[in-house]
Amino acid sequence: MIVVMKPEAAEGELEQVLETVPEEEYDSHVFRGVERTVIGLIGEGADKETLKNRLASHPSVEKVIAILDPYKLTSWKFKPEKTVIELGRVKIGGKAPVVMAGPCAVENEEQLLTTAREVKKAGAEILRGGAFKPRTSPYSFHGLGERGLKLLARAREETGLKIVTELMDIEHLGLVAEYTDIIQIGARNMQNYPLLSAIGSLRQPVMLKRGMSATIREWLLAAEYIMTEGNHQVILCERGIRTFGEETRNTLDLSSVPLVKEISHLPVIVDPSHGTGRWELVRPMARAAVACGADGLIIEVHPEPRRALSDGPQSLRPDKFHLLMQEIKEMGSYDDRNTDRVLPSAI
Ligand code: PEP
Ligand code: MN
Repeated sequence: MIVVMKPEAAEGELEQVLETVPEEEYDSHVFRGVERTVIGLIGEGADKETLKNRLASHPSVEKVIAILDPYKLTSWKFKPEKTVIELGRVKIGGKAPVVMAGPCAVENEEQLLTTAREVKKAGAEILRGGAFKPRTSPYSFHGLGERGLKLLARAREETGLKIVTELMDIEHLGLVAEYTDIIQIGARNMQNYPLLSAIGSLRQPVMLKRGMSATIREWLLAAEYIMTEGNHQVILCERGIRTFGEETRNTLDLSSVPLVKEISHLPVIVDPSHGTGRWELVRPMARAAVACGADGLIIEVHPEPRRALSDGPQSLRPDKFHLLMQEIKEMGSYDDRNTDRVLPSAI
C-alpha cells in the first residue's frame, strides 16, 4: 500500500501518519521526493481495509493506493522519481551513461595499475576487478582475496576511480564493504537470499547482476530482498542469460533494459563482456546498450588478454577500450539520445 502525503504536509504530520501504522504488521519506507513524500507500506495486516481508511482520513494524506503487483520498493508506483546513485561526482542513473571497466580478476599490482590508468585515461569512472572470483571450475584461479582488495584500494588512491568488486560470501561482507564503493553480487548469487538480506542492512550501493537463467521478475524480486532491509541503492546489471546458442557465452538480453525501466526506478547497466564472451562483440553490444537506454556499462579490460587468468577471450585491450569510449561519447548524453524511455506519470 502507498500513502501519498499532501505537498504541504509537515514532518510532524508525517510522523503522526507513521504512528498509525501497526509496526508488527507493516514495514514503512519513506521516500522524500522533490514535490511530495510517499510512504510505502509492506506487509500483510489482518485488517487492511480499516488501516487504509484510517490513513486516508488523515488531513495531511492525499491518497492511499493498494498495490497488487509483486513489485513494491523497486516499482515506480512506490517511488515516482528515478533512483540516482551518487558516488562523489559520479552519478549512476543520471544523464550520461557511467562506465565501469577493468580486469575480470585482480591478478597483480602491475596488471591492475596499468589497466586502471588506461581506463581512467579513456574516461571510465569506476574500476572493476574481482578479488573473490566465482569460477565454474574449482581448479581455476579464484582471486587474491584481501590482497586483491588492497590493490584495488591502491588503484583508487592513485587514479581517483571508484571501485566495484564482487562479494561472494557473507563471511567476507565486512571486509569487502570496507574496501569497495559498490558491492557486486554476481549472477551465481542473485538468488542467495541470506546474502541479499545481509547486504540490505548496509547503506552502500550494490550492483545486482541478473542470474544466468533468471526471469525479469526473479531479478527484480531479488532486488526487493536487498531493499526491504533498508538499502535502496541498487543498480541492476544485465549480463546475459543462458539460451540455446553456442556461439556466444550467453545471450545478452538487451530488451530487459527498456522493460525493467517501465517497471522500476532503479538504474540498469549492461555487461556486454559476460553477455557475449567474445571481445569482438563487446563494442557493438556496448553501443546497442547505450542506444536502448542503459545507465551505464561494465566492461572487462586487460593489458594482455591472452595471458589473463580469467575471461581473456572477452576482455578488450586498452586501445579497443579507448575506441569504445570514443564511440559512446559520440552517442551523446541521455537527453540527446532518441530513446523511448518510459517515464511514469507522477502518481
Ligand atoms: C564478473 O563480473 O567477473 C562475473 C563473474 O560476472 P557474472 O556474475 O555476471 O558471471
Ligand atoms: Mn569475468
